[in-house]
Amino acid sequence: MEIPHRHLFGPGPTNPYPGATAAFADPLLGHLDPVFLELMDETCAMLRQVWGTDNARTIPLSATGSAGMEAAFVNTVHEGDVVVVAVNGLFGQRMCDVAARCGAEVVPVEHEWGQPVDVDRVLSAQPSPAIIAAVHAETSTGVRSDIAALGADKGDALLLVDAVTSIAGIELRADDWGIDVGYAGTQKCIGVAPGLAPFTINDRAFERRVEKPRSWYLDLGLLGGYVGEASGSGGRTYHHTAPTAMVASLHAGLARILDEGLPAVWERHAAAGKLLQDGLEERGLELFAAEGHRLPELTTVKVPDGVDSATVRKALLEKHSIEIGAGAGAYASSVWRIGLMGPNATPESVELILAALDDVLA
Ligand SMILES: *Cc1c(COP(=O)(O)O)cnc(C)c1O
Repeated sequence: MEIPHRHLFGPGPTNPYPGATAAFADPLLGHLDPVFLELMDETCAMLRQVWGTDNARTIPLSATGSAGMEAAFVNTVHEGDVVVVAVNGLFGQRMCDVAARCGAEVVPVEHEWGQPVDVDRVLSAQPSPAIIAAVHAETSTGVRSDIAALGADKGDALLLVDAVTSIAGIELRADDWGIDVGYAGTQKCIGVAPGLAPFTINDRAFERRVEKPRSWYLDLGLLGGYVGEASGSGGRTYHHTAPTAMVASLHAGLARILDEGLPAVWERHAAAGKLLQDGLEERGLELFAAEGHRLPELTTVKVPDGVDSATVRKALLEKHSIEIGAGAGAYASSVWRIGLMGPNATPESVELILAALDDVLA
């Protein structure tokens, strides 16, 4: 079967950095091979940099971003804990579902989609919640929320943050912002294929964790011994077979990002996003996310009146080999989502999309 080259300009996966793709062709290593363990250690060290953390427990979980969400809640929610969740899109909603399955008494703080999290409302929702959870970059709406403000006044609560679409795309400083538990994904701005969930948890949250969580696979207590975090002695014990080729690919992607430099990477995403958003507005299209809170890496734009959303996406794919996303939830047919993530955060990508849209909409 011939696989076409697609421009992946949707909400993820994005096209990978070339080095991340090339790494899949390297010889496969066993998951306890000393060379692989070194590769894993270096990967964890680079993940600390993109998270902005010194947390020893910073690891790539062997599954996609959603497993990161599961791991975050299943390891920290004790039966009956009050968990305040800021909900301003699909992923906030999903957090509520996951937290409830872990036995939390969930207190959702609902927002209109397209708006950022209202920090005051979230912080005053409950007198002393065990956990406050929020999505940094809501991929369903294209909105960025102020995590630093949440962290500054979280009190005794743990701050649990979804950074799937923000990591390596926009500024993220887990330690400075007071993030206790965070999870991400590889296929958005990190620019690596889907398959791993970069995860970080600080000592404060780890000490409060559930001793024997309902999930065996995502039990951080067991995973620690395997990934070798904080073990120092190198006493790795088998837990599951790490996807060694995926870790090698992530290693290459992170090296590429840190070689460019995080501030430069953030700046490249910011510039590409602005160029796209300006270009869409110049064409009379209306952006969906609230002004001043728009993500550069994920743009939401309203489908013009009289235009069929699916027809346009199909034409973009068939004629231009460009994938963009439909809207999420209630906005499935009224909003498009255009991603410029990782290697796609360039002026050339913006030109391609705008030219293709001009062609298809004409
Ligand atoms: C993509 C995404 C997820 C889910 O990640 P998967 O890799 O699809 O499991 C979670 N949260 C946000 C904000 C996302 O964009």
